[in-house]
Amino acid sequence: MTQLLKAREGTITEEMRHIAQDEGCDAEALRKKVAEGKVVICTNRHRNTGKTYGLLGVGQGLRTKVNANIGTSQDYHLIEEELDKLRAAEKAGADAVMDLSTGGDLREIRRRVMEETTLSVGSVPIYEAVVEAAKGGNAIKDMKAGNMLEAVRRHCEDGVGFVTVHCGATRGLLKLINDGKRVCGVVSRGGVFLIEWMAFHKRENPLYENFDELLDILKEYDVTLSLGDAMRPGALADAFDSIQVHELNVLAELCVRAREKGVQTIIEGPGHVPINQIASQVQLQKELCHGAPFYVLGPIVTDVAPGYDHITSAIGGAIAASAGADFLCYVTPSEHLSLPTVQDVWDGVMATRIAAHAADIAKGVNRAMEWDRTMSQMRRDRNWEGQFAICIDRERAESFRATRPTSDNGDVCSMCGTFCVFKVTDDAG
Ligand code: SF4
Repeated sequence: MTQLLKAREGTITEEMRHIAQDEGCDAEALRKKVAEGKVVICTNRHRNTGKTYGLLGVGQGLRTKVNANIGTSQDYHLIEEELDKLRAAEKAGADAVMDLSTGGDLREIRRRVMEETTLSVGSVPIYEAVVEAAKGGNAIKDMKAGNMLEAVRRHCEDGVGFVTVHCGATRGLLKLINDGKRVCGVVSRGGVFLIEWMAFHKRENPLYENFDELLDILKEYDVTLSLGDAMRPGALADAFDSIQVHELNVLAELCVRAREKGVQTIIEGPGHVPINQIASQVQLQKELCHGAPFYVLGPIVTDVAPGYDHITSAIGGAIAASAGADFLCYVTPSEHLSLPTVQDVWDGVMATRIAAHAADIAKGVNRAMEWDRTMSQMRRDRNWEGQFAICIDRERAESFRATRPTSDNGDVCSMCGTFCVFKVTDDAG
């Protein structure tokens, strides 16, 4: 039985207990939310049975989670470099990683990622189906529906905790896409593959058509379905258009079907969104999808800052999560420019963690609020060691202080020196 089915029959699983303890919440309250589909526990029967690592709780009332994408490309496919990125993401505090590899031996990369990390690992199996088809000298159009489902099964067997599957990109959308109103068209790789396939075969999206078969596979492994938004806007000008809303409606329908079958479900969201639309988009998703966890990529709030998209997305992520989004996919400084480096991964995770934490304060997550209070008290007390010990990036904070020391004994910092407001206040008694 899946976590969802067990929750529905009233069982608090070991996984739920572990997550409740980790989050500092009541296990029975968590079980109820899992039963309602408002919280998912990403796990995998092949990887997690009897183990507490690799678990990920996402949804209402829990801390906002952060995902880091890693993975090879056709130009850069060194496994060791991707493992370095994985280590950087984990050290920086990511809650999950997605292996989005498209270059090299994809199964071997996934196996090494699984060996290396204790985090939950997500994936997009259709990438592998496409890469495999291309290896045989075939084009995307030559892929069979069965190839896509076989790829999903392989990923489940290998231990992934959640899979992104673009089931909502239905044939009915082709006409809307072809009207040419969008500035950037379709920017999801999985979405583009499926559109090409549907246009060539003049057939429905096989992942939509064979949705029940897909659910059977996920149920067998107790893997969480992350319904990908293949039609997410890739430009601010394309945000919240009829294509995006049409797909969201399909995802909402599929979410209900998945829950009925006992498969835990996350809904994915944009993308590129103006700040003033973010809260409405989150509210619409929550309403249509009956409170299902919302996993957003960014969202990026301006298109003009390549090189700084970890910042543009952290702004959007903080607003989205404070409005109710549950899971933030990081964006790195190299977004739209190149495959990220190890440093880009670090910077992306840090920016997104800050966004998630800022949102958790707005959401009223007790531990998040306590963390800030303690830090403020240490700052007031000029307790430098204490501040370093609990701040989000100790090495960076220490290096700043070491680079510009004070002329006194280090009681204050070199910004105000003897005019330090905390010291002046203390000295005045
Ligand atoms: S010296 Fe100024 S900036 Fe530094 S801790 Fe004191 S008040 Fe803050």
